[in-house]
Amino acid sequence: MSTSASQTRVRFAPSPTGKLHVGNVRTALMNVLHARSTGGIFILRIDDTDVARGTQENEDAIRDDLTWLGMHWQETFSQSKRFSLYDEAAEKLKEIGLLYPAYDTAEELDRQRKLQGVQGKPPIYDRRALDLTDEQRAAYEAEGRQPHWRFKLSGNPVTWTDLVRGEQTVETSSLSDPVLIRGDGTYLYTLPSVFDDIESGITHVIRGEDHVTNSGAQIEIFRALGGKEPIFAHTPLLVDKDGGKLSKRLDSLSMRQLRDEGYEPMAILSLLAKIGTSDPVEERFTIKQLAEEFSFSKIGRAPARFDDAELRGLNAKILHEMTYDQVKERLDALGVEGGEQFWLSIRDNVEVVDDAAGWNATLYAPMAGIIEADDKAFCDTAAELLGDDTDWSDLIRKLKDNTDRKGKGLFMPLRKALTGRNHGPEMGRILALMGADRARARLRGETA
Ligand code: GLU
Repeated sequence: MSTSASQTRVRFAPSPTGKLHVGNVRTALMNVLHARSTGGIFILRIDDTDVARGTQENEDAIRDDLTWLGMHWQETFSQSKRFSLYDEAAEKLKEIGLLYPAYDTAEELDRQRKLQGVQGKPPIYDRRALDLTDEQRAAYEAEGRQPHWRFKLSGNPVTWTDLVRGEQTVETSSLSDPVLIRGDGTYLYTLPSVFDDIESGITHVIRGEDHVTNSGAQIEIFRALGGKEPIFAHTPLLVDKDGGKLSKRLDSLSMRQLRDEGYEPMAILSLLAKIGTSDPVEERFTIKQLAEEFSFSKIGRAPARFDDAELRGLNAKILHEMTYDQVKERLDALGVEGGEQFWLSIRDNVEVVDDAAGWNATLYAPMAGIIEADDKAFCDTAAELLGDDTDWSDLIRKLKDNTDRKGKGLFMPLRKALTGRNHGPEMGRILALMGADRARARLRGETA
């Protein structure tokens, strides 16, 4: 991996333990936007050190979703291929006395925390493992206990200037020494992440604010490994529109689901780029545009509110600008007829592309419209006045001359009789697309 001193290098580092959802896509997006706005490199790192919980299927889905969203990476690698490197880093920490074995069982740690609670002390690991003699360690191992390994924090405050949160201090004296290696020898994400950030020359770590405390400990690990810590940017978490937790809904807000529901990548990205920032939430058509507008200084400290209705609204606006060529394949897959004329006529009236199928059925499949009793005679008159070559404005003129109807009382019965709905595309376009025969029949109340 080559690095040049001045180039921005960022990474998105998902664990393949689940599918991508709006929360982690937002983190990925912030990384992409920062890279794009500074001419930097975006790296996709798969944090699959937890071999038991991660799956290849999830990893494939992550790559597929990012590609669908248009968030292309310039470099990628998986942590599961790099265990020997992490072992070397761990050895180095052991040699300098900063990684120490601990034999405490989960029950023992739990008991210790309860005791601390009773004594009014904070639940911080008391480092009893540091006092073990060689004999005591040997005795534990003879019992069959495998040590887990903890990083020895300095106990000093760690400070950094966060691009979103400003001056930050984490008091390492208030943290338990973090476990870097589990009893079964597997790595938690903490050490591999720091090692890889150093190795990949990461300049900025952009991630959710749930990692702020980790950053305090990780900065000490960066330094212990002889690296320089990157610049950090911790973004506020996503909440729902009422400020409640999104966590329960994350399955339904996975990219798989949103894609199935017909959302456009740029609707999702426009929303995720703008919520929680000082910019208005508006549709954007390219990642380039979003990158041009991106700045950490625009990101607020309050949680970003994710509102499904806002997503639908953006989706509709994006569809209103979509050319026929951009949607042709999807319309064909839906079996939609009518070609470009049809699409241009209905695109202002759909929220997702699939809605086109409904309009297609309205225009080209037999159905009866809605005719209220009071409108029956009026609609019959309209049927009589509608000749094969009468266009919409001709028809309206003739109806004004021949009946006493005007305004809504004139238009609405026609719309309901022809489409069965109160809202929709311009009636002139509808009439042209459905043709006079079908329109006359529907005006007469027939199924056509
Ligand atoms: N794999 C970690 C996570 O998904 C990465 C966090 C980070 O960006 O450092 O939480």
